[in-house]
Amino acid sequence: MRKYRTYDPFDLADYLHIEIIKRPLGNIWGFYILIRRNKQIYINSEIEYIKQKFTCSHELGHAVLHPKENCPFMRSSTLFTINKLEIEANTFAACLMFPTADGELYTSKQVAAALNVAEAPVLYEVACTKAIF
Ligand SMILES: [Zn+2]
Repeated sequence: MRKYRTYDPFDLADYLHIEIIKRPLGNIWGFYILIRRNKQIYINSEIEYIKQKFTCSHELGHAVLHPKENCPFMRSSTLFTINKLEIEANTFAACLMFPTADGELYTSKQVAAALNVAEAPVLYEVACTKAIF
């Protein structure tokens, strides 16, 4: 965020040479794959824009934190998983999309409200300070 001076996950993916592919994916929100050193993020083009943006942020989290794993399809249910990689990606996405004031903790309920999902996603409680640039 500081390096590229943006919070936009689509712009960040571009800067990091991660290809974004949008197409209808049924009930899957998106996924991340690594093919011959090429990082790709698939996003369901038929879900609400806020969910596409969160999915891009979540998959960007996998691309940055777990680049060599081909991460499982993200469905809305993935938000509520106890899988460590998924929780890390959810936390990364929440920090990117909903940064808080200095030292303040965001809550998974706030994220759920923003995404218009009934159940609060599983996140690590970490302070996500908004980068100043
Ligand atoms: Zn994931």
